[in-house]
Amino acid sequence: MQQVKKVVIAGGGTAGWVTAAALSKQLANLVDVTLVESEEIGTVGVGEATIPPMLVFHKLLGIDEQAFMRATHATFKLGISFEGWGDIGERYIHPFGTTGKGSFLADFQHYWLHGKTLGIDYAIDDYCYELQAAEAGRFARSDSSSISYAYHLDAGRYAKFLREFSEQHGARRIEGRIARVEQDPDSQHIRALVLASGQRVEGDLFIDCTGFRGLLIEQTLQTGYENWQHWLPCDSAVVVQTESADTLPPYTRAMAHDSGWQWRIPLQHRVGNGLVYSSAHLDDDSARERLMTNLETAPLTEPRLIRYQTGRRKQFWNKNCIAMGLSSGFVEPLESTSIYLFMNAVVRLLKLFPFNGMQSAQVDEYNRQSIVELEKIRDFIILHYHLTRRDDSAFWRYCRTMAIPDSLAQRMALFRECGQCFQSSDELFRLESWVHVMLGQGLMPQGYNQLVAAVPEAQLRQHLQGIRQTIGQVVQKLPSHREFIHYYCRAS
Ligand code: FAD
Repeated sequence: MQQVKKVVIAGGGTAGWVTAAALSKQLANLVDVTLVESEEIGTVGVGEATIPPMLVFHKLLGIDEQAFMRATHATFKLGISFEGWGDIGERYIHPFGTTGKGSFLADFQHYWLHGKTLGIDYAIDDYCYELQAAEAGRFARSDSSSISYAYHLDAGRYAKFLREFSEQHGARRIEGRIARVEQDPDSQHIRALVLASGQRVEGDLFIDCTGFRGLLIEQTLQTGYENWQHWLPCDSAVVVQTESADTLPPYTRAMAHDSGWQWRIPLQHRVGNGLVYSSAHLDDDSARERLMTNLETAPLTEPRLIRYQTGRRKQFWNKNCIAMGLSSGFVEPLESTSIYLFMNAVVRLLKLFPFNGMQSAQVDEYNRQSIVELEKIRDFIILHYHLTRRDDSAFWRYCRTMAIPDSLAQRMALFRECGQCFQSSDELFRLESWVHVMLGQGLMPQGYNQLVAAVPEAQLRQHLQGIRQTIGQVVQKLPSHREFIHYYCRAS
């Protein structure tokens, strides 16, 4: 079996440069890392909201947070404000971080539900620090604080930042359009990328980061695609950048409309906007008009249309090619999971790196872990669409009544009947995330774990009151998000 000494990354969007950064830093002189990208083709140019595991990835690479935030004009993100999802006019925040404090045997929602029966009728939101800080528009972090957060960032600047990082760590960049992919006639393994200039770029392992095209994984290896459009029917987005607004909320806004939803992502220097929709329910011109008439500030760019198909590649690792980023599939931008998914995929690859050539057990394990992780995320996203009482359009009627995966139906039933929710070890979204979204979209449990009734009422009252009070006091003292960014990102 051929040893892996040369890794070739096809594509230099966020996925390509994230992969190059991690491999060049972690594999140092063990392998050569080359990235081929084409400025003429460009990148998808979206993907600006992230989730907290990004901090772990940056730590692994030794990235300085202040330098990163200055370079990418990033802001902090404490969660997502979902508007009009459960029903028109309703709103909730899905926050990062923990909510309340449960016990080993019963999670917090049981104490909260029991409290309600005793007349302690505060919203679950009151018990989450990140949620309260988000609502107040406040933010601060320090090395000793345990606030859970992520970032909003400028995707183009982030790719440049990672390119510089990767090149400093020895990655080589080649500019050019890949015109042809050369395969071994027997094994069908990829041998080289042939550029339009005629240059051949040989490698032992190829990472396909060519975006929706899937130039290697699909156009060359014909790996196949599992379509999830029957569960996640949005397939289009029209996107535009606008000027900064007066407010700088430390959260993303996800505003539902009759055929999908609209995002608003605040950065230091501008706002990212996009209208996501199902083309079976809304035509492109109407989508464009809807977005342009629902902007907070003046546009800086022309609106741009992006088409996609929700689903996943049947295999993420096929022969000597691994798909990362959009070439591997796409769930939905709704919970900002895409960048996370390829950051975690690179970590998975580093743990299973084929130094001694492609071993089928390693390839199978990589694919197994990737599929399990993605399917759990998929269920969580479907939950947002399915768990609605909206009846104002064919789109929402479809989502509300569509068949859902058994795994999701089981989770919803467990919560509805018993207030129970469990997070498995291979799952990204924490139980609190599920609880906030299910409650936020109107699924109130009919029961809870009666074990919590063993706690004396006075003690429970004190416990719940204590959490709320502490959160309230701490949040009040925080600076505004804008003030903190100004202080934190000033030139040193
Ligand atoms: P691209 O950015 O498309 O990069 C492809 C690269 O391949 C480019 O460099 C291109 O030049 C190169 N290439 C292609 N063909 C060739 C060729 N023949 N020769 C040479 N080079 C070639 N993710 C999040 O985490 N958060 C979000 O908020 C979020 N929002 C999104 C909203 C929408 C509407 C969409 C569609 C996606 C969103 N995503 C989000 C996903 C995110 O944008 C992507 O995961 C991320 O940008 C990575 O894209 P990529 O690098 O895989 O592909």
